[in-house]
Amino acid sequence: MNKHVLEGLNKQLNMEFASAYVYLAMSSYYESIDLEGFSEWFKVKAYEEMLHAMKIYTYIGDRRGKRDLMPIPLPAKTWKSPLAAAEDAYKHECRVSESIHSILDIAREHKDHSTEAFLHWFVMEQIEEEAEADRILQKVRMVADNPGGLFMLDNYMMERAKADRVHGGKEERDHEEQ
Ligand code: MG
Repeated sequence: MNKHVLEGLNKQLNMEFASAYVYLAMSSYYESIDLEGFSEWFKVKAYEEMLHAMKIYTYIGDRRGKRDLMPIPLPAKTWKSPLAAAEDAYKHECRVSESIHSILDIAREHKDHSTEAFLHWFVMEQIEEEAEADRILQKVRMVADNPGGLFMLDNYMMERAKADRVHGGKEERDHEEQ
């Protein structure tokens, strides 16, 4: 594999684990302010990010590339409000998309069709991730100054978490079958 493509994939492998850490930190923050639905939802997200990392881990090995496991950046420890955390989650997903797109550019430059095809899953996944984070952010904005609204939204997030956990479980099985 071209060294620039490999470098990009190793960075992305790290970024997916970093995403899991960011979402675990958010999960802990929401739990600390008794928004258990948000907490659960971010916990499911963290788990999904680790699956993303493992997809890349497997791919690098399949291509006989050298894995470069790097330190995982420390996430923020807390946020000033439920809205601030939701804003950060959305911004984080946008950064992940940019990163995937830049590796895709590198793969194209080096005519690495396999990596290009491999990254398509991530490109599509990021469309969903950004849309989801944005919808949640807009909902938190609607109720930011209304504790009753936040309470209702937290119940909704718990339902979402339960539904996504089923989806996450499926994704895990897909990964194991690969
Ligand atoms: Mg991801």
